[in-house]
Amino acid sequence: MKEVNLICTKCNKKFPIDKVHFRCDICNEPLELEEIKEGRIRKDNVFNQTIIERYADFFPFLDIDKDLSLGEGFTGLVESNKIAREIGIENLYFKNETQNPTWSFKDRGTIAGIQHAVKLGYKTIGTVSTGNMASSVAAYGAKANLKTYIFVYKDIADEKLNPIAIYNPRLIKVDGDYGKLYLESFKIGEENNIYFINSDVPFRIEGYKTIAFEICEQLDFDIPDYIVVPTSAGGDIRGIEKGFREFKNCGLIDKTPKIICAQASGCSPIYTAYKEKSDTVIKYENPSTIAHAIGNPTPPSGNQVLRMINWNRGTCVAVSDEEIIEAQGMLARTGIFGQPASAVPLAAVKKLREEDYIKKEERAVCIVTSTGLKYTAAFKKHNLRFEECNIKDLSKIVK
Ligand SMILES: *Cc1c(COP(=O)(O)O)cnc(C)c1O
Ligand SMILES: [Zn+2]
Repeated sequence: MKEVNLICTKCNKKFPIDKVHFRCDICNEPLELEEIKEGRIRKDNVFNQTIIERYADFFPFLDIDKDLSLGEGFTGLVESNKIAREIGIENLYFKNETQNPTWSFKDRGTIAGIQHAVKLGYKTIGTVSTGNMASSVAAYGAKANLKTYIFVYKDIADEKLNPIAIYNPRLIKVDGDYGKLYLESFKIGEENNIYFINSDVPFRIEGYKTIAFEICEQLDFDIPDYIVVPTSAGGDIRGIEKGFREFKNCGLIDKTPKIICAQASGCSPIYTAYKEKSDTVIKYENPSTIAHAIGNPTPPSGNQVLRMINWNRGTCVAVSDEEIIEAQGMLARTGIFGQPASAVPLAAVKKLREEDYIKKEERAVCIVTSTGLKYTAAFKKHNLRFEECNIKDLSKIVK
């Protein structure tokens, strides 16, 4: 491991990276790796590179275990002129994270976390999740041949449980408060030598930086005005922001985009705190939204997202389930099928454009975090049509 420290996002206390430290022991806020100030992109053959290799200067690993990779990252950046025209903006792009090995961006964080876990000699990993992160950690645990614990909440639907179970982890439904389970898992991990790659642990954030790195490369380092991120725990948005910041430190780009934290109005603890000008996110009572993947009422990185939005001069926005479903349909009609949570950025751009916060000539990138096939119950909310006929009438009907 290179000589870098973990640093508390609030009080700046330093911790070594050769042990696991997930939260600051003084203020209980998340830790992150010190900012990279010097680095370049390894422009070798992208077909036999992993994301961790291409951006090796931005990771603390001295050597990289390629065997742990399932081919994550290097996802498409798709421009949609059609949607851009519909909502009255000149350039609109979608970073299509559905192309990852377990169909969500979580794989980028899992690969970075598992590299660290294996370097430290861990034989067991785990996570606490309601869906996408659970399948991701289970899949990478299977690939690495590590014992893997997945804690899910008690009422999880079979539709979500089975795609985790197929990788054969120790999958445990837990009855209890989800926010408490996050902290409890770290304690269990410490007692039993299990590395929990939870939603906002420092190495997961490091993996998410690669979304920003790829966007820079895909746009020829011509940085867009906004990056819009559907936010739950706050891990993804923190990673993306840090990625742009580090590329700027290294002179690869000359400005950073504004970061927009997009939440569902049925569970919007970060948006609520932002609007009330508070520096502390509190538990969102009685959450209810179709965007399950961003339904964490007690986001562990919530306060840090508020601090970041403040220095980054971005904003927070919340959209209703109705707006989310409408955006999911729009997105599908341009060829990209994201789950409801992944349609939240488009709904947010539409709203911010209507409010004239985003100007017509500005450019935005929406992060499409995971596939619509993960949550087929949302089909019911759309007016999906098909026709039927006998083969002998087909030609007539098509005419
Ligand atoms: C996990 C997840 C998010 C939110 O990411 P956080 O790091 O928890 O903020 C958004 N969309 C989907 C589909 C996810 O699985
Ligand atoms: Zn601290």
